[in-house]
Amino acid sequence: APATTPANALVVPSAKTPLLLNFNENSLGMSPKAQAAVVSELPKVFRYPDDARADLVGKVAARAGLTDKHVVIGNGSSEVIQMAIHAFCGKGTQLVVPDPTFNYAELYAEPMGTKITKVRLKPDTLQIDLPAMKKATESFKGQSVVYLCNPNNPTATILPASEIEAWINSAPDNVFFIVDEAYHEYVTDPRYASAERLVKAGRKNLVVARTFSKIYALAGLRVGYGYAAPEIVSKLDTWASIDNTNLAGAVAASASLDDTPFIKQSLAATAQSRRIVTDALKELKLAYLPSHANFIFHRVNASSADYRAAMKVRHVMVGRPFDHTDGWNRLSLGTPDEMRAFVRELKALRAEGKA
Ligand code: PLP
Repeated sequence: APATTPANALVVPSAKTPLLLNFNENSLGMSPKAQAAVVSELPKVFRYPDDARADLVGKVAARAGLTDKHVVIGNGSSEVIQMAIHAFCGKGTQLVVPDPTFNYAELYAEPMGTKITKVRLKPDTLQIDLPAMKKATESFKGQSVVYLCNPNNPTATILPASEIEAWINSAPDNVFFIVDEAYHEYVTDPRYASAERLVKAGRKNLVVARTFSKIYALAGLRVGYGYAAPEIVSKLDTWASIDNTNLAGAVAASASLDDTPFIKQSLAATAQSRRIVTDALKELKLAYLPSHANFIFHRVNASSADYRAAMKVRHVMVGRPFDHTDGWNRLSLGTPDEMRAFVRELKALRAEGKA
């Protein structure tokens, strides 16, 4: 079983064992098969990781029905984002990002002299405003790079494939897309589809970034990947840190891909955690956005900072600040037992009038 605590164990947050619901990690832990792969590979880590890397590339490619030449490997998907920014951004270019969103593209692009254009989420639904982002590219003469996070972080909402595809398929040559699908494996909504099918269709104006840090629970081993046209992969690879794949991470990632029952179990546990949280939010009349990932964006009856501070006193780390969304909190979904503990603390806070 993936759980790191026995089923239905009473989780009691304390200073020594705080409840970490703040970084969208997968507290269910990694696949036992991945663990075994790491252990058996340890005596071989004096070698460079080429063979394990090649094996992983092959598996990742096959999953999408693409060739090895369509795959770029990163030290986490962060590095895939970094490569794309290095390859396409710089002075005289702009990066268009939703606001708020996961901000690594912005963090890499800014020091290169890239103009950063932030496009606010739609105020009513907190959905990414694609038409407004498109307008921002149309009114800019140079190269635009568009960062789309689907599902979006921090809101956990999705963009329908039809809308993303319509734009990417009709975009002019000076627009390149980074589609960040870090939470892809969690989505069950039929309106969603991975942008990998655009890569499959031969489009050269995008890279799809994915990670082993979320559903596969390998955040500390740092493995991510991207799908793009072979010429784009070559271009991105010139910006990769050479030998960026660590051997332990590569074998763990490969073994995880094979462990379908584990992934199913992990998804079921996340769904259960989500239900525990949404039941409590409904009971407490706190609104929330539909969650398509291992986290949920919900209202609190306080400023976000006060709420986080009050939960921290209870040894529950519930998130971090995001622009323009005061009164909301991004909560990572831990194990069902952890979320039961969260609900107890949330209700205690409500009793004190602080949530
Ligand atoms: N993209 C998104 C949307 C994320 O939320 C994260 C991590 O939280 C990452 C990318 C980075 O993940 P990693 O570098 O571990 O693959």
